[in-house]
Amino acid sequence: MTKKTFSKILLFGISTIAITALLIVTVVYSYYDGQTQNKLTAVASIISYELEQSDDYSFINNVIDEDTRITLIDSDGTVLADSSVDFSTLDNHLDREEVQDALTNGIGTSMRKSATLQENTYYYAMVLDDGRILRVSTMAKSVAGVLGGMSPYIIIAVIAVVIIAVFVSIAITKSILKPVEELGEHLDDVENYKTEEELKPFVNAIKEQSKKRRALDKQKKEFTANVSHELKTPLTSIAGYAELIESGMAKEEDIKPFASVIRKQALRLVNLSEDIIKLSELDEGTDRGIDFRSLDIYAIAQNCVNSLSINAKNKNVSITLEGEQCFIRANESLLEELIYNLCDNAIRYNKENGSVRVIITPVDGKVKLSVCDTGIGIDEKYQERIFERFFRVDKSRSKATGGTGLGLAIVKHIAQIHGAELSINSVLGEGTEINIIFDR
Ligand code: ADP
Repeated sequence: MTKKTFSKILLFGISTIAITALLIVTVVYSYYDGQTQNKLTAVASIISYELEQSDDYSFINNVIDEDTRITLIDSDGTVLADSSVDFSTLDNHLDREEVQDALTNGIGTSMRKSATLQENTYYYAMVLDDGRILRVSTMAKSVAGVLGGMSPYIIIAVIAVVIIAVFVSIAITKSILKPVEELGEHLDDVENYKTEEELKPFVNAIKEQSKKRRALDKQKKEFTANVSHELKTPLTSIAGYAELIESGMAKEEDIKPFASVIRKQALRLVNLSEDIIKLSELDEGTDRGIDFRSLDIYAIAQNCVNSLSINAKNKNVSITLEGEQCFIRANESLLEELIYNLCDNAIRYNKENGSVRVIITPVDGKVKLSVCDTGIGIDEKYQERIFERFFRVDKSRSKATGGTGLGLAIVKHIAQIHGAELSINSVLGEGTEINIIFDR
């Protein structure tokens, strides 16, 4: 991260500097260009003045200037004098662009390779009062030529700029990454950590996550404590009764009822461990993937009703299935477990001669499962809580009927896994209706 950020900043810095340098070179070059042209105009006006003062123009042949070439051309194009080349060897100059230009406009300029000197040359020509043409020219320097003279300074400047860019990049990288590194060191105490504005969304996400983790940890701890408590009661009872029998303190006629208590408590432990295993499987299952297929929920409900009909009969409760065949995408054993738990509760928390109705109906492209009973009902203030693990409205009734306090927690979990909507409708003393709406 540090390396990447650093190289990005350095790259950005150096490219900015390079672009700026390029712009400066362009400006310097065009300034130099302008200066050259000004110089030519100035030289031309001085020479033209000289020529007006005297008829002798031979001095032109003797001008020695490495940069500037002066040529005097007669109105018919014959070269009369030249400061750089022997004028007698020069051809007629009437066709030169700047000469033609000057003949039309009074003055003329051009830039081209000189036929004589073979260099890129600026020309400035002006028509004198007597019709002759005075031309001054100078070699045009290329960008490299202009910069060439400054090369040692440029090299020093480039090295200095790169070194400065590296140090500045290091400093910027550090200042950007410092808050992130500091945050990393304070992750355990992120709640109280004050950070830069830019990092707030990140910090808030961490805070949110640690809150969730803590809630989950708390839930786990509570669950473990509850499990230990739930295990302890039947185990203590089993140990106590077994001890009475073992020590001979139990009378002959007590042994059978004591054994019955031991069996019932052992059965509770079996139920409890089964439910705990189921819940932890469900907790893991959400990550592992569960096998879903198209199932007839009516047929599955039928199986549950059949297998619970004896329990219902024992409690003088009637249990019936209504509705029609409906297919939903579900996991078979989980769906069976869900319906079984709901029906089992509806029987266990029912009244003498009560009834349980299981209804399967299609609604708005979905399928509704309702389990309605005419039982004891649930006080409104508990209706949300009954889906919590180990929550029971009446502990003794739950235990007496073989409840573990986990049945509805399992139901809620299974509904969630199926993306189904769960709702409860209950009136204390009159009965309860639990509805689950499945997608097809
Ligand atoms: P339990 O094993 O105790 O039945 P559940 O998780 O299945 O555990 O249910 C939690 C509590 O919700 C029960 O102890 C009971 O008090 C209440 N409850 C559940 N179903 C019904 C129902 N059909 N009628 C009345 N109360 C119910």
